[in-house]
Amino acid sequence: MADDPFENMLAQMDRAKAFADVDHGVFERLKHPERTLKVTLPVELESGEVEVFEGFRCQFDGARGPFKGGVRYHPTVSQREVEALAGWMTWKAALVDLPYGGAKGGVICEPKDLTERDLERLTRRYTEGIRRMIGPDVDVPAPDMNTNPQTMAWMMDTYSMYEGYTVPKVVTGKPLEIGGTPGRVEATGRGVSLITQKLFEYLERDLTDASIAIQGFGNVGSNAARLLDDAGARIVATSDVTGAAYDPDGLDVGALAAHVEAGGMIEEYTAGEARAEAPGGSSGDDADLVSNEELLTLDVDVLIPAAVEGVITADNVDDLRASAIVEAANGPTTVAADEVLTERDVPVVPDILANAGGIIVSYLEWVQNSQEFSWPLETVNVELERRIGSAFDETIERYDEGSVPDLRTAAYTLALERTASAHEYRGLFP
Ligand code: NAD
Repeated sequence: MADDPFENMLAQMDRAKAFADVDHGVFERLKHPERTLKVTLPVELESGEVEVFEGFRCQFDGARGPFKGGVRYHPTVSQREVEALAGWMTWKAALVDLPYGGAKGGVICEPKDLTERDLERLTRRYTEGIRRMIGPDVDVPAPDMNTNPQTMAWMMDTYSMYEGYTVPKVVTGKPLEIGGTPGRVEATGRGVSLITQKLFEYLERDLTDASIAIQGFGNVGSNAARLLDDAGARIVATSDVTGAAYDPDGLDVGALAAHVEAGGMIEEYTAGEARAEAPGGSSGDDADLVSNEELLTLDVDVLIPAAVEGVITADNVDDLRASAIVEAANGPTTVAADEVLTERDVPVVPDILANAGGIIVSYLEWVQNSQEFSWPLETVNVELERRIGSAFDETIERYDEGSVPDLRTAAYTLALERTASAHEYRGLFP
């Protein structure tokens, strides 16, 4: 189960089915992605060699609107993973009530081994490959792991070249200069921070000085760390692929961010030299290097997985000591581990709610592109807070009714009911 994210997503749906008001036939239909395109991508690298990559785009369910979902570049990308991620996007869009269906894309590659020019060529070739599937009102990609505003700019340019005119609305997460929105880069991390604050209010606990461990210090993890640090929490550990920096007194998040932005890894940061060189790095941060596995089992108030899926499993769940979990990554907890956490009464804010800030602000970018009008950052942030806050409140309301066992099931019942309702109104073609 832990190895197959798609099986995990189906098991999450099954767990919620007993509590959701969904027609059996419609539910069965929702277990299958509408379509997945697999593309072969030969790319001439800067070295002169031709390397053949493989990419995917999955459109899971489009009953509620155009497909929406990120593009991931990672060596472990697979068709099953992309399909699971597309499913999670479907439930996420429905839970936060956006007029979108769910999609996801991915390319099997190790971005660290590719030059900027290689990445541009790969992105353009991938965009050409999936061009028949995407479009501003059809399927709108966005950034995910190892892709960023520059990747979106290349995708937008490639698509626009074929169309013969500029189509900003075909992707979100673009640079500001070509139709991006203020607030998109930090949106997912901001959403994670807002949700953690809402959870603490609900639990009637004080976030000030609460200890937090965050696995992953990329786009989502680093922005969540900064905003939670600003909110008064103590970020005691965070990691990248090289390991985790741990300081029970709290890390200097600003110094760590400066180190990582300059291309440094956590392993070097904990070695000390880089820390002293980083702006603000001499402020007394005294972090030790621990493993990613140790980070997950630290005795903290909140654990925030913000890297890859399948990290909280039946194998390590008994060692977890966090008193709450906020899932910033997609699919970090297997169903088997989830059941143990539910039994232990550890609140887990599910991914489809906790990391929905990204899709919400992507939607706000898409709306601004449609309007050919841009909003100030404050408007974007107010709208993000309103939308993610009401999805949290609705999930809590469902949970407090007392029929569902945990927050994930509460969120899934809402998402499944909304998606199923769209199917029922639309009927079965032909
Ligand atoms: P990123 O590429 O910016 O950062 C990923 C981080 O995870 C890096 O610090 C990397 O070193 C670390 N990492 C990678 N593999 C790891 C491993 N095996 N063990 C430990 N650490 C590892 O990616 P991101 O955009 O921050 O995305 C992180 C997660 O959040 C993913 O699950 C993604 O699907 C999810 N997510 C991202 C967005 C978004 O807007 N970027 C939106 C919703 C969900």
